[in-house]
Amino acid sequence: MDLRATRVEISVKNFKNNLAFFRSKLATDCPLCLVVKANAYGHGLIEMAECVKDDVEMLAVAAVNEGVRLREAGMIHPILVMSAHVAAEIPTICKYNLIPFVSHSEYIEQYQKYAEQYNIKLPLHIKVDTGMGRSGLMPNEVLDVAKKILSHDNLILEGVCMHFSEVEKKETADQQLAVFNSVVDELKQNDITPKYVHAANSVAIVYRPDSHFNLVRLGVGVYGYNVFEPEIRPVMSFKSKVTIEKVIPKGHGVSYGSTWVAEEDTKVGVIPVGFADGYMRAFSNKGKVLIDGKFCPIIGRVCMDQMVVALPDNGDYLEKDVLLFGDNDELTAFTLASQIGSIATDITTAVSTDRVPRIYFDE
Ligand SMILES: *Cc1c(COP(=O)(O)O)cnc(C)c1O
Repeated sequence: MDLRATRVEISVKNFKNNLAFFRSKLATDCPLCLVVKANAYGHGLIEMAECVKDDVEMLAVAAVNEGVRLREAGMIHPILVMSAHVAAEIPTICKYNLIPFVSHSEYIEQYQKYAEQYNIKLPLHIKVDTGMGRSGLMPNEVLDVAKKILSHDNLILEGVCMHFSEVEKKETADQQLAVFNSVVDELKQNDITPKYVHAANSVAIVYRPDSHFNLVRLGVGVYGYNVFEPEIRPVMSFKSKVTIEKVIPKGHGVSYGSTWVAEEDTKVGVIPVGFADGYMRAFSNKGKVLIDGKFCPIIGRVCMDQMVVALPDNGDYLEKDVLLFGDNDELTAFTLASQIGSIATDITTAVSTDRVPRIYFDE
């Protein structure tokens, strides 16, 4: 067992409760696709998929190699590959039974070729760019590409989907949905009715029931962010311990560049976590941590492997637990991120998988 002080604790209980909350927003027959891209937003790809595998109908990843890892771990769910891939990955997609999103027609012949070679019917989901301006076919290209897919024996047009750029902005979301609905209608008028029509991400699951169609893609919310409802709790807590406790005398600088200088004798703690662990250098002289119920400011620059915090004058802190961020309302990944103008998942996905063990608790 890895006894390193710096570790991530994952609350499987919070994860399951969050999932139940999102499920309660859906019609009983609406399947749910759990998004586990980017190592399940930093929480552990296989572990997170494994612990709710009987409660979700589908899984989604960004990259083909993430889908391969899920298959190699024994996952038998349909697996959507949402980000674009290169042609060289098509044999792997077929071999591992993955379901790519289609944003252009350049690879259709190759999908057919390898699907035939692997003796499968390859399901494809057409992605429509309804305003996100990232992946997806332009609305007026969809019908042609759909027909092209349908003209190949080993390809199935299984889905048509879109992604919101900003669900919270009603007019933008209304506009995107209107474009999407007209594309789905156009397909229908041509007798093309893919099994799955999907658009909703976490926020849309809760606030845009008109975007549920017959499949939803649940990501960030299940990990505890972006949906601000009391039932939703952060799943990841990033923790460490005080490993050196000492007094910095008045006038003495702290860390590289002495960007912090003691105005008086100051008790400090050295924490063995740094930007190589995923605690960003941007928190130098900005962030705070929670030790023994007290918030302690980071002083000086966050280094690659260590950082220094100011400790209260009283008390003994050696080996005391340090909460860097997690399931504490004043110190979530979201509150931390807002200090540097970023978002919660920027913080959770940064935590190093190499160096920081994930420990899973189910109570
Ligand atoms: C990441 C992603 C999702 C999940 O979105 P959340 O906001 O994390 O719920 C859904 N669809 C696509 C295409 C994505 O890239």
